[in-house]
Formats: sequence, structure tokens, C-alpha cells
Amino acid sequence: MPETLIVSEPRDGRPEHTLRVCALYPDLMNIYADRGNLLLLERRCAWRGMGFVLTGAGLGEAVDPDAHDLFYMGGGQDRDQALCAQDLVDTKREALHAAAARGAVVLGVCGGYQLLGHSYELGDDVLPGVGLLDLKTVRHEGPRLIGNVAIEVTLPDLDGARTIAGFENHGGRTHLAAGQGSLGRVLAGRGNTGDSGAEGARSGNVVGTYIHGPLLPKNAWLADWLTHRALGLDRPLAPLDDAMEDAAHASARAAAGL
Ligand code: GLN
Repeated sequence: MPETLIVSEPRDGRPEHTLRVCALYPDLMNIYADRGNLLLLERRCAWRGMGFVLTGAGLGEAVDPDAHDLFYMGGGQDRDQALCAQDLVDTKREALHAAAARGAVVLGVCGGYQLLGHSYELGDDVLPGVGLLDLKTVRHEGPRLIGNVAIEVTLPDLDGARTIAGFENHGGRTHLAAGQGSLGRVLAGRGNTGDSGAEGARSGNVVGTYIHGPLLPKNAWLADWLTHRALGLDRPLAPLDDAMEDAAHASARAAAGL
């Protein structure tokens, strides 16, 4: 049974004002403090008086596609990805497709991003992915793509282009199929392959990116966009005092050389 890790009630008692997050393999797929992404979502809900529920789904545990608004899978070492890739396909693939089809957000970071595609080839081994994004990843003999990164993104519901800044560290090179949109355009750093100029991938509310950092504390605006999409809200989220978050974003941008 998936384990409930955090529960906090909405201030107004209305269940629709609760963000329900399911973390996939929170123990295995969690490097570079990916947990910070989940805690940031929790904090921003609490500050707005919204409820927050975090459930962790590990090996062998089926997930209910209707019980969560946002599914999250963080980064992982190749060996950790190998432990969960087949399980993801066997026990969670259908639910994730059903959830995505009804508009739930699915966010994969780095190793999690790679497993949202069709496959991750590691020499003679091929790890299966869930195929929510039309892409495949190949482990490259060459150097790992490591360093600070910044990308420009244009997203529905948002005016103008925004910047996501953070840190990447991956050996895999991710190749998008012809019709698959990227998440953004590389401004600094390496991105999907090191030379394609594309970073991440997005199909509707399914989002994958190589950007750690952690991603959301350095890009709080993105956390709000994901929350807004996950809950299918008509009205914008209440503004927060983001002085600290803006400083973190500015520092991540500066680290990437912007
Ligand atoms: N193991 C994967 C790679 O090296 C993903 C790494 C990560 O999640 N940082 O490509």
C-alpha cells in the first residue's frame, strides 16, 4: 500500500483546495535533494491556507490515478533506476497514463524524466520507460553533462517567456521524437544531449527536465504553475512574499552565467 507521508487540511475545509501529491519511489529516486521539491510544494500550499497530502509509492505498490493531482519522480543513479524501471512499467504505467489523460501533472526530474520516455539504454541493457513522453535516452560513453543550467520556457497560462535555472548532472543523452516538444531552449548549460539546444520535454501537463538544484526552490514560479495546472484552477493562486525565492532564482541564474 502506498504510504501517506504528510497530511495537512485546507484552512477553509474545502477538499478541492488540497494539492494531492504522489512521490514515485521517494527513497530510490531522490538525489540532489529532490525532496526539497516536495517540501516547497507543501510550504507554498500551507502559506496559502491550502491543504497538502503527500503519498509515497514504492516498489510493488500500485497507484490510484484519481487519488493524486501531481505525480513526482526525482533523479536517480543508473543502479537505482534499474531497480525501479520494470516495476514502474508493471505496477504504475497504466495508472500514470490514466492520470495524465485526465490532466494530472506528472513531473519527472533527471532520472525520473528519463523513465517517462520509452527507454533508457545502458550499453547492452535497456531499461523500459512508461512512454508518457515520446523520447528515448541513451547512456553515452562521453563525459557526463554536469553544471549550472538555465533554459527559456514558454508555458500555457503564462504571459511571455520565463527562465528555469538550476543544475544538471547526467550521463544519459535524451533524444526527442520529431513531434515531441521540449520543455525549453538552453540559454546556458547542456540540456538533453549537450548540443541539441533543447532541454526537457513537455506534453500537456507531463513535464520532464534534467534540472535539479533542487528545481522548485530555485524556480518557485514553476511550482505555482504546476500547482495551478494540477488543480485545474480558473483563478490565479494568491501571491506570496517571494523575496527569498526570488533571491534563490537570481542566484541560480547568476550561477549559470545569466
Ligand atoms: N542516472 C541518470 C544519468 O546519469 C540520471 C542521473 C540523475 O538523475 N542525476 O543519466
